[in-house]
Amino acid sequence: MKISEPNPNILHIEALRKKFVSDFDRDMLEGITLEQYAMRTGDKKNFCYRLEREQIGMGDIRNATAQKFGIWVRKSTGEYDFTKKYGQTAEEAFSVIRSELCRLVDAGKEDDFNAIRKNMLAPIVRYKILAMYYPDKFLTIHSERHLTYFCKKAGIPYLQDDDELVLQRKLLQWKENQPDIQNQSLLEYVAYLYEHFGVPPTVDKGLAKKKTRLKKLKDDLKAFDGRHVKTHMTEVEVKERSTLVAEIVKERAAGVCQLCNKPAPFFNKKGEAYLECHHVIWIARGGADEVYNAVALCPNCHRKMHILDEKSDVDYLMEIAKG
Ligand SMILES: [Zn+2]
Ligand SMILES: [Zn+2]
Repeated sequence: MKISEPNPNILHIEALRKKFVSDFDRDMLEGITLEQYAMRTGDKKNFCYRLEREQIGMGDIRNATAQKFGIWVRKSTGEYDFTKKYGQTAEEAFSVIRSELCRLVDAGKEDDFNAIRKNMLAPIVRYKILAMYYPDKFLTIHSERHLTYFCKKAGIPYLQDDDELVLQRKLLQWKENQPDIQNQSLLEYVAYLYEHFGVPPTVDKGLAKKKTRLKKLKDDLKAFDGRHVKTHMTEVEVKERSTLVAEIVKERAAGVCQLCNKPAPFFNKKGEAYLECHHVIWIARGGADEVYNAVALCPNCHRKMHILDEKSDVDYLMEIAKG
């Protein structure tokens, strides 16, 4: 029997991570001061410095400038500089950043993908924080390019629109089915990925982004409606159109159930997040087979709607459907 020795490097990274998370626990973040947060030359105790420089083993984010943190001390002037999207003054900006930071940590705890996606902090910072606080749920790979590279190498189907959260989830599910590595911690798993598949080659960033799948599906529906009169469609055409509506609705949900806000329970063989299309006003009750009357739900929530159809859920989903 092979006894695997603990990797000293990983033990060190994990010890550093634990220290960080206990120094900056959720209660502390609630009241963290600007001084304790912002990067400034000569101070190695602040949140941003430690997240970036001390925790390199948890994913290297040194490439992007201090701007990613929203607020920082400018070396030349010693004054606070900040991203204007957060506010007009340094104090105003920091108060927004602090609350976004707390919200992110809460969203990670709840697996609330929508809240993670809507969070204002820069993606690279967001994903690193998630991996720091929830090392058993989020990978320390923060770049979409690296994540798609590993999916490709491992033969995991992925879609052009998959974001970091979905790609990470796919890699996590793949690990569960690999007997050799399924018991590894996520830090060991990341080390394995880089060792096994190598570092992805750098690519030209100037490549134009292709039309998103959602946009394409919407165009397809428009084209379909241009060719058919809704009141005079054959059964086959009605079905074809219905499939398009369902595809749009599921794509719009981006892998998250629109009622419980939890990620889809699994991916199908094509690599699509498994969700079901539900008509808020049921077709059987005269509801329209249109995007504005449909949502994407996980199988549990879908069942719940068909058994209970509670008014509060219906009202909530109606707003979501109208989007
Ligand atoms: Zn659900
Ligand atoms: Zn339904």
